[in-house]
Amino acid sequence: MLVRKLLVAGNWKMNGSIQSASSLASGLLSAIRDGIGYDVVVFPPFVHLPMVAHRLQGSHLQWGGQNVSAHSKGAFTSEISAGMLKELGCQWVLAGHSECRHYGQESNELVAKKFAQALGQGLMPVLCVGETYEQRESAETEAIIWSQIDAVLTEVGVAGLGQGVIAYEPVWAIGTGLTATAEQAQEVHQFIRSHLAVKDDIIARRMRLLYGGSCNGSNAEALFSMPDVDGGLIGGASLTVEDFMAVCQKADKLSKGE
Ligand code: PEP
Repeated sequence: MLVRKLLVAGNWKMNGSIQSASSLASGLLSAIRDGIGYDVVVFPPFVHLPMVAHRLQGSHLQWGGQNVSAHSKGAFTSEISAGMLKELGCQWVLAGHSECRHYGQESNELVAKKFAQALGQGLMPVLCVGETYEQRESAETEAIIWSQIDAVLTEVGVAGLGQGVIAYEPVWAIGTGLTATAEQAQEVHQFIRSHLAVKDDIIARRMRLLYGGSCNGSNAEALFSMPDVDGGLIGGASLTVEDFMAVCQKADKLSKGE
């Protein structure tokens, strides 16, 4: 059996200041000991990245950007390239977070190009996918999620997709306090993995699938215990050391087989 290491990722969104981001990074560094059996990544706002990189440099914690340009350089005012993130020591980047898809009107095709840019710089993209409440109600969940994944498959192939991570984040659960039940999450994750297996069974079994959407210390254990849930992308509960550690402690427990 192939063991996938749990991954706990904190999406800080547009929160905090240089000072609060600095204490959060330092707090996590002292709270999460070296040699843990799961991975931890934080996604601070772009302007806090240099400071967070400085704090976490050489540690077991990793960091990444919340978005990336679909272009490598040039006249794209306000955008940040994958190369720039790489220069800041990022190993990771989010691609297609639902807030970027919604407010930034990012299409599946644009997100796929961003994913490809990240791979081109050796970054690991976290492809965020998920359905709205209306789409779930009209039984479109699987079609929506597959169209989001398929655009990336068209752009980079299954081997390219397999170099990243997929985060299933039902839009109706993000920042709402409504969490998908562990069974609902497992159902979608299993759908994703079984469809990927048709393309490449080994990649499907290796690929980490995260759940995101109001995940916190109270529901993380049930979610992460599901066979196809390999950790979480955490928004609100990643903003304090205490809340994030409550999630990490569940990953720690599960990674030790407790
Ligand atoms: C997110 O933004 O990726 C997220 C999951 O947010 P929250 O945990 O606040 O729902």
